[in-house]
Amino acid sequence: MKKTAVILGAGITGLTLGWKLSKDYKVIIIERGKDIGGTCSSFCYKGFTLDYGPHKLYPQKKEIEQEIKSLYEKDPQKLLEIKKESTIFLKENFFKYPLQIKEILTKFNIFLGLKLMSNYGLNMVKQATSSKKKEESYDDFLISKFGKSMYELVFKENAEKIWGNPKDLSSDLAKTRVASPNLIKVILDSITNKKDPSLNAETFFYPQESIRDLSERISQKIKKNNGEIILESKLEAVKVKGKRITHLIVNSGRRKIEIKPDVFISTANLKDVLPFFDLPNRVLESLNKLKFRGLALAYILVNKEKAMNSNWAFFPEKRFIFQRLSEQKSFSAFNQPKDKTAIIAEISIRPEIEFMEDAEIIEKVKADLIKLDILKEENFVEGLVLRKKEVYPIYSLDYKEQLKIILDWADENLLNFVTCGRNGLFNYNNMDHCMDMATKIAEHLKTNGTIEEMRKLRKYFESYKIVD
Ligand SMILES: Cc1cc2nc3c(=O)[nH]c(=O)nc-3n(C[C@H](O)[C@H](O)[C@H](O)COP(=O)(O)OP(=O)(O)OC[C@H]3O[C@@H](n4cnc5c(N)ncnc54)[C@H](O)[C@@H]3O)c2cc1C
Repeated sequence: MKKTAVILGAGITGLTLGWKLSKDYKVIIIERGKDIGGTCSSFCYKGFTLDYGPHKLYPQKKEIEQEIKSLYEKDPQKLLEIKKESTIFLKENFFKYPLQIKEILTKFNIFLGLKLMSNYGLNMVKQATSSKKKEESYDDFLISKFGKSMYELVFKENAEKIWGNPKDLSSDLAKTRVASPNLIKVILDSITNKKDPSLNAETFFYPQESIRDLSERISQKIKKNNGEIILESKLEAVKVKGKRITHLIVNSGRRKIEIKPDVFISTANLKDVLPFFDLPNRVLESLNKLKFRGLALAYILVNKEKAMNSNWAFFPEKRFIFQRLSEQKSFSAFNQPKDKTAIIAEISIRPEIEFMEDAEIIEKVKADLIKLDILKEENFVEGLVLRKKEVYPIYSLDYKEQLKIILDWADENLLNFVTCGRNGLFNYNNMDHCMDMATKIAEHLKTNGTIEEMRKLRKYFESYKIVD
């Protein structure tokens, strides 16, 4: 008889785990939402198919690219490969993103351009000649890399807008996960005239139907292997004997189900799942110290065939309410009205946004779009705001310490429990990382890996970098 693997969450991590385990295990996925895919999903609205924020696929690992392509092997034309066009708005101009030296020197006023470059150059010399000092915080790290002028222009307000005070954020965020994360390496590369494909995507993949199609295709693989996905279901209780989880009680609305898992894998937020167990105070305290920020997505429907010149554009300055704009049609025009387009504005839920009414958010986005000449008043059709909680794990100065306390406790006390995924491991990552993580964890389980091996895997997951 097959062992039973229960997976909490049908996002891309949970689905990939289900796919990879379903030949060897009886897989049951418990999903609290009405649909599969989690963040890697889409919805229909007035003739549009819209994603929960722009979702390009740029797998950094060849194996993951192959896995994605294998899902489209019967109809490869349904996985589009798109030339990436991205921009960043600084001062009064759109710049190609990654930033290019030529544009820095010609599009800014010449004094600012020269100041930025000389500041950067001086910093390089200072770095090369001074003894290496450990940069703990986001701002320390970026100032030491680029100089104060570039930091203040590109990174400071961006961090304040998305995550909070840069002085309270870990340098890990700057190294791997800034909203325009790879700007760091990218500016360096443009100065040295190098191109690092692992950090700067020239093209990206996108399913013709919508990003949900990727999740859908994985879910079909699970079902083909007799795996089950139970939607609108909630974990209600767990029973533990010794150090093993023996029963999971799940409420699926109409009925309560009791499942005896051989292994229980959670991709849900650590803060939601671990409190089901009898936790010591120090673990509870650490869980409370892990902070997330939510995201408001404002969809602006426009009476025009196309509105933007790029797939997406970054807006680091605080005067704009959003940190990024994207145009759904530039990912795939399929499933979109011919004569209309939709712009998606991503707005981190910072204190001043938290209590803002949807109508006010729409007005502000609209006003900014008009200022930027992306929208004309007469072309505005309507706006829609969706809010999602716990979207950005906040890498505070001590997040690693807290995470260690939590995971060490779980490793030692719950022998058939695994936590993974973006919120399950507090790992600020992308879909391809989630697929890689799930694939490696599935292999680990199938080969009865040790706790030490799992720790090594988690260390490796920390090395993921977001590509823009
Ligand atoms: C705005 C935005 C843009 C992005 N753009 C890109 C991009 O361009 N490219 C890219 O590769 N990545 C992108 N990402 C990142 C990517 O979406 C995530 O890394 C990935 O989708 C996370 O998958 P996950 O399965 O770990 O988590 P989730 O997608 O959060 O899935 C978790 C699932 O678990 C369910 N769940 C949670 N708690 C419970 C519970 N207690 N019981 C039952 N079910 C539960 C949730 O409902 C959800 O379905 C973006 C993310 C955002 C927010």
